[in-house]
Amino acid sequence: MRIYKVGGAVRDRLLGRPVTDIDWVVVGASAQDMLAKGFRPVGADFPVFLHPKTGEEYALARTERKSGRGYGGFTFHASPEVTLEEDLIRRDLTINAMAEDDQGLLTDPYSGQKDLEDRLLRHVSPAFAEDPLRVLRVARFAARYAELGFRVAPETLELMRQLSESGELQALTAERSWKEISRALMEDQPQVFIQVLRDCGALAVLMPEVDALFGVPQPPAHHPEIDTGVHTLSVLQQAAQHQQPLSVRWACLLHDLGKGVTPEEEWPRHIGHEHKGLELIKAVNERFKAPRECQELALLVGQYHTHAHKAQELKASTLLELLQSFDVFRRPQRFEEFIAACEMDARGRLGLESRPYPQADYLRGAASVARAVAVQPLLEQGFKGPELGEALRLERLKAIKAYKEQQSS
Ligand code: ATP
Ligand code: MG
Repeated sequence: MRIYKVGGAVRDRLLGRPVTDIDWVVVGASAQDMLAKGFRPVGADFPVFLHPKTGEEYALARTERKSGRGYGGFTFHASPEVTLEEDLIRRDLTINAMAEDDQGLLTDPYSGQKDLEDRLLRHVSPAFAEDPLRVLRVARFAARYAELGFRVAPETLELMRQLSESGELQALTAERSWKEISRALMEDQPQVFIQVLRDCGALAVLMPEVDALFGVPQPPAHHPEIDTGVHTLSVLQQAAQHQQPLSVRWACLLHDLGKGVTPEEEWPRHIGHEHKGLELIKAVNERFKAPRECQELALLVGQYHTHAHKAQELKASTLLELLQSFDVFRRPQRFEEFIAACEMDARGRLGLESRPYPQADYLRGAASVARAVAVQPLLEQGFKGPELGEALRLERLKAIKAYKEQQSS
């Protein structure tokens, strides 16, 4: 049997980027040979094994054929006769279809090295169209390598466009899609992921609610970039530049969905978009089965981002309601993430990228005085049950009123 490094490890070494996980392909071996060497099988009918010591993935060289819709609709053929070239041709991009032996000798039948030099993301063969997930993967690699000047080859973008129009994208499971989306959002240039999906028509299929934001104007006084889609991409870019966690990035992407359904007569104003966006955010959340903290934050940011921007103008009672909506007394971290997303929203505007956002500290201050109200004295005064809750609310209100006065003096 011959063993080669493949995929990301080869690509990233040639790019001079750190290699995190190594994928291996094994040529000239059967499943029995692998088991005999102590490898552990990953799945019952999938020719992938884990190394007994390193735990790295070793896949038997295989060919694939599409036999139905979705990823379940693949027939794998792994046998000792399958050649390295046959295995490499089923891979998505030429830069991912190179192999390296233990002497460092490169096998590159599909010109991956040239495409690396030319900074091109190019599909290996027309079989690319057999797995619609590849549309998301290419967009993710475009985001990851944007900084290095990579772009999607025109003929690959064309294939991605055909795949988007064919209805195949709908066959993707929520789990497979979310894995790509969440990884793409955590790249340094996540806005490129969304842009590439839009360029090939996939965004209109996967997230029509986000796609609908492009071409929708906003008031130039607050939004010099005017276009809501452009704004959304900038907010996402800000979130990445400030190294925000996934939940914040997800909330940034979805915060303005309500603006996509404003009747044209009302443009460029979007009164009530916060509330109108909620059902759209919910739909996107559920479509991809986003993790709970992502779902919750996206809804809260959608509903309350304008509150944050106007923080200093809010009445004490409204401020308190805001804090209560976030359950800030028990979950201070989520409120921090809300503030972060709102700050990214304020900065994701043309020419305003480094504006100060005093609302952030103002909100933090209000949360901290409200949280500092002690329950013990109220208990000692004999309050309990609903009366205790009400007494606590009044004390917190008093604290916030005092805070407001002190802030404005
Ligand atoms: P990363 O740095 O994100 O791990 P990677 O290229 O190693 O990038 P993996 O998902 O680990 O990506 O996959 C390893 C290799 O398997 C890829 O380089 C590619 O050759 C192939 N591959 C993975 N998923 C697909 C797919 N859906 N279609 C075609 N080839 C794929
Ligand atoms: Mg990998």
